[in-house]
Amino acid sequence: MLQFICSVTGKKYPVNIPRWRSNDGHLLDLEFEAKFDLEKIKDRKPNLWRYLEALPITNENSIVSFEEGFTPLIPIDFDGKQAFIKQEQLFSTGSYKDRGATVLMSFVKELGIKKVIQDSSGNAGCAIAAYAAKANINCRIYLPADTAEAKIAQMRMYGTEIERVPGSREDTAAAALKAAGSTFYASHCYNPFFYQGTKTFAYEVCEQLGWTAPDAVVVPAGNGTLLIGCYIGFNDLLKAGIIDKLPKIIAVQAEACSPLSQAFNKSLNTYNEVPTKQTLAEGIAIATPVRGNQLLKMVLETKGKFYSVTEEEIKDSLLYCGKMGYYIEPTSAATIAGLRKYLTEQPAELVVSLFTGHGLKSTDKILKILKES
Ligand SMILES: *Cc1c(COP(=O)(O)O)cnc(C)c1O
Repeated sequence: MLQFICSVTGKKYPVNIPRWRSNDGHLLDLEFEAKFDLEKIKDRKPNLWRYLEALPITNENSIVSFEEGFTPLIPIDFDGKQAFIKQEQLFSTGSYKDRGATVLMSFVKELGIKKVIQDSSGNAGCAIAAYAAKANINCRIYLPADTAEAKIAQMRMYGTEIERVPGSREDTAAAALKAAGSTFYASHCYNPFFYQGTKTFAYEVCEQLGWTAPDAVVVPAGNGTLLIGCYIGFNDLLKAGIIDKLPKIIAVQAEACSPLSQAFNKSLNTYNEVPTKQTLAEGIAIATPVRGNQLLKMVLETKGKFYSVTEEEIKDSLLYCGKMGYYIEPTSAATIAGLRKYLTEQPAELVVSLFTGHGLKSTDKILKILKES
């Protein structure tokens, strides 16, 4: 049965009445049983909607889609050791956030909602804006005043209303939460329907490996939108008896903003606010991740670990990928820096990671990096 479930009290709520938290103010998760029909899946188009029975959309006419997903999984050698890399920079808006947006905005359409708000420093906003445009849903996005111009241009092209909020990322979130009292909050952090989309990353990886699970996945951990998707997706496949083990989830943060990595390495199950610095990996520089404690638990449960990577390591991995013909965002290079550490420790494992976002989004930043190197 499809219901919201309070992450603390277990209290349930119907999904057809919009809400972004429980009555007690806690995070909501989703109760939903994913089903798989491998024969049907095989015969469907190569996009993420091939897993229809595993996605929480009842009416196929509600689906808002650019036929996204089923991105190539390519073997790439890093420092002489091989990993499989999902080409998630190839989505229509330039990042894997389209996975979450297609499912969340399809649900919004199913509810008949005509206006949404969102807050993001970049790619999640771009994805929600594109799917809102496709579905003819009005969209307003709250942004920190220092958001990259390229991403603002992209959102404006989709016809989104932009609200620049002075101050920090947290001030932007506060402005959005205030507006969320009266308008549907299409949040990639709060709304669990977003993870019902990002979980298809795990489905695709296993299908592309012949319906087997890798030993480990190396993923970014800012708000953890893909990390949570991996946890849900691999667990769905395990429950359905399609795979026989959970891959270890290896989470990567930038050392400059690493509250979760620091907590995990002290064996804490709740994180504390820590001092942060500027980082090239702006997309995962989240000082107070809303679901941070859930992320710690998920990584621990899969016997995974956290890495934090330095600015030098991020820069080196960005240039290294470019030399091999892959043009990615500086934020994406942080995950690759973590992957390279993991491959050094576990060279014999089957390891999957990803390029999270396209380099064309960050021309200004990349020009600056090239100048300095
Ligand atoms: C969203 C995103 C990430 C991961 O961020 P989370 O905050 O963990 O969801 C990494 N790289 C890029 C390019 C992104 O857009």
